[in-house]
Amino acid sequence: MFDLKSLVRPNIWALKPYSSARDEYSGKEAHTFLDANESPYNNPYNRYPDPLQRELKQQIAVLKEIRPEQIFLGNGSDEAIDLVFRIFCTPGRDNVVSIEPSYGMYEVCADINNIECRKVLLNSRFDIESERLLEVCNERTKVIFLCTPNNPTGNTLNSGEIKNILDRFNGIVVIDEAYGEFSDQPLWRNEINRYPNLIVLNTLSKAWASAGIRLGMAFAQVDIIALFNKVKYPYNINILTQQKAKDILNRRLDIEDWIKQTKNERLSLMYAVNELDICEQVFPSEANFFLARFKNANSVYDYLVNQGIIVRNRSQVKLCDECLRITIGSPQENTALLSALRQFK
Ligand SMILES: *Cc1c(COP(=O)(O)O)cnc(C)c1O
Repeated sequence: MFDLKSLVRPNIWALKPYSSARDEYSGKEAHTFLDANESPYNNPYNRYPDPLQRELKQQIAVLKEIRPEQIFLGNGSDEAIDLVFRIFCTPGRDNVVSIEPSYGMYEVCADINNIECRKVLLNSRFDIESERLLEVCNERTKVIFLCTPNNPTGNTLNSGEIKNILDRFNGIVVIDEAYGEFSDQPLWRNEINRYPNLIVLNTLSKAWASAGIRLGMAFAQVDIIALFNKVKYPYNINILTQQKAKDILNRRLDIEDWIKQTKNERLSLMYAVNELDICEQVFPSEANFFLARFKNANSVYDYLVNQGIIVRNRSQVKLCDECLRITIGSPQENTALLSALRQFK
């Protein structure tokens, strides 16, 4: 049985959170705010932002078809990842399990928080085998981190295997769906009401073309989101970010267009790279990047750098020897990459 209280660090469960001026009075009717030691000058930047980002969450709730109370907003997904550790994992005692290869932040955050990170190697198709993953868990495993579509491999993970983990693991399962918009698979975000132990991460950094404003999202049932709200910095999302996020969310048709273009470019770029003599294999992708294995990845990487084109060298990563990770750019950028690769000797 899933028991949230037994998973939360006792000090966090007992925590009485900081109560800000904006928490204690959040109505809009008043005209004179003398409660937060703000300056009366330089409007609107003189005011503290809404600590719970209510307007922005309302907009996200409509778009993602969930309730505002099921949303946490962070300074990038990285804040949400860090809070997962601080809410659930007692330093020096608990552990988490993640897959390998995957996004590096799970392990870095584990290290920062002095939490053991147990890594389970994906199979040769870069997919998970749930039984092998569950075997690595013990009574001190609080969280499993999954990422689908996975970075740096680009593929989505088998949904039956993920379901098995959600059903059988009594701890928290974080599914990082940073690249979900580029995939044709059903989204795990739509499953949060079915699984009390599921946290899904989204971001404005990829499909929403707003990495610079730093806005990450976590979706889960309300009791988990309440814990995030208790632990986060009171004013963690500044007003500039809240405003820019509302602006980009209103441009939904542009975003859909950009996603469609990126998927078209992905198809033609992957095809063209696969045709090159220097390329051994292009791996399937449902993200805005793909992984390709070359005959000599380091020399291709150095050559591209010399041409002013930067891709990600993943050749030192487990299961990714001789692999480069290539982001889908604009048509011009992709053409520049291809013509450089065609001239490589
Ligand atoms: C890019 C990326 C993110 C986004 O992180 P932000 O902090 O929101 O910019 C999250 N997860 C994965 C796997 C990523 O590749």
